[in-house]
Amino acid sequence: MKVIVVGSSHGGYETVEGLLRQDSDTEIQWYEKGDFLSFLSCGMQLYLEGKVKKVNSVSYATPEEMEKKGVSVFLQQEITKIDPEKHEVEVVNHVDNETRTEKYDKLVLSAGAVPTQIPVDGSDLQNIYAMRGRDWAMKLKAKTVDPNVNNVVVVGSGYIGNEATEVFAKAGMNVTVIDILPRVLGTYLDPEFTDILAKNMEEHGVKIAAGESVKKFIGKDGKVTQVETDKGTYDADLVIEAAGVRPNTKWLRGVLQLNDDGTIATDDYMQTSQKDIFAVGDATHIKFLPNDGEAHISLATNARRQGRIAAENLEKPTRKFPGISGSSALTVFDYKFASTGIKDATAKAYNANVKSAYVTDTYRPKFVPEDENATVYFKLTYNADNHQVVGAQIMSKADVTADINAISVAIQAKMIIEDLEYADFFFQPGFDRPWNIINVAAQKAVDQEK
Ligand code: FAD
Repeated sequence: MKVIVVGSSHGGYETVEGLLRQDSDTEIQWYEKGDFLSFLSCGMQLYLEGKVKKVNSVSYATPEEMEKKGVSVFLQQEITKIDPEKHEVEVVNHVDNETRTEKYDKLVLSAGAVPTQIPVDGSDLQNIYAMRGRDWAMKLKAKTVDPNVNNVVVVGSGYIGNEATEVFAKAGMNVTVIDILPRVLGTYLDPEFTDILAKNMEEHGVKIAAGESVKKFIGKDGKVTQVETDKGTYDADLVIEAAGVRPNTKWLRGVLQLNDDGTIATDDYMQTSQKDIFAVGDATHIKFLPNDGEAHISLATNARRQGRIAAENLEKPTRKFPGISGSSALTVFDYKFASTGIKDATAKAYNANVKSAYVTDTYRPKFVPEDENATVYFKLTYNADNHQVVGAQIMSKADVTADINAISVAIQAKMIIEDLEYADFFFQPGFDRPWNIINVAAQKAVDQEK
């Protein structure tokens, strides 16, 4: 069997590893249109802050290692067309501009997503950057030490925007964050958390322009100098657009069935609408357990899980994708937070009827001195009709983010708040309290349902 894998980031890498694990004599051809194999944008902040020194180390695999394992790696070679009937792809080699066709028995697409460009006047000015992939990583790195950069405007305060904000604020620049939503991280956390985070960001010198919409980029001599919104104008020597991504699927129109948002439609086995073509990662929807529906959540964790499942199902439908809860974590200056599933702020978008229990406590017993203790903020969200756990958010100056993994499993196991009321979590004053904050929130939720 000959398998062609397109894209060398999380989804593509995991698919290739999955195929290698199967110990078959499968011929694997792995294509990447860029000039570097398997760059991981997740590691970009660590590189930009100098904690990881070498940009090329932010990767899972080198072509040499993969070739040794028997994988044929093709860099700077782009799959530009697919003929599902003939089981053929067109390959453009960007080194010599030659085009050829390759046959496949199975094709796995992990072509990912690309940053959204805000369609306003001035968007073609210089020094308007994105934050995704190795090329942008190297350009951004140069800007962190550029003496001509004093004012940085980040458009979008989701995960990526916050990583950019922190990098440039720590590099000593004046950073303004603009978001159309009224709160920073508005789709990840409810106001109880974002109010604290916004204050902390301001304490670190970040200017927050939430609830504002970018109207134009203003420039001089071809370079951006200001960003104008519906409410103000902000000086900018550098703009970082982090206002979401769009699936990289224009080239697949008319070949594969696409969803309304442009993502590739797949079944539970990651099979697309065409026989022998599979798709994974940011270019697809994913089974979302909290509401038994589907969602488009761009996360490496999702792409990796889908890639592994796709590899298992190539020869015959064997294993259904189990679904995800949408869990993620981030550091924002002095705080660490994690969230999963549905929040009060996103319930409407998921058409979910939810209730929540919000609690705060210290993460270790009260007798532990303040400098070794910290306040924990936690919210448990559940289906108001059947009490099923559908989401949670946690935040603290201490790292208590792992609690969210427990909630993610509870969502997967379809547990209800009554199951978590007495769930057995360890206690040792060095780590925790006799009642974990999950218990405390579940007890409050059960009480408010009596
Ligand atoms: P992509 O990463 O988009 O990669 C697609 C690859 O395919 C690219 O290399 C592209 O060049 C190649 N390609 C596309 N089309 C073709 C073609 N036709 N022919 C050949 N090659 C092609 N997620 C987390 O879970 N945790 C994190 O901490 C995290 N941090 C992040 C930080 C940043 C700054 C960013 C930008 C993202 C982060 N993510 C994180 C999200 C995560 O990086 C993505 O969800 C993940 O990369 C998706 O993988 P993918 O394989 O679907 O596609």
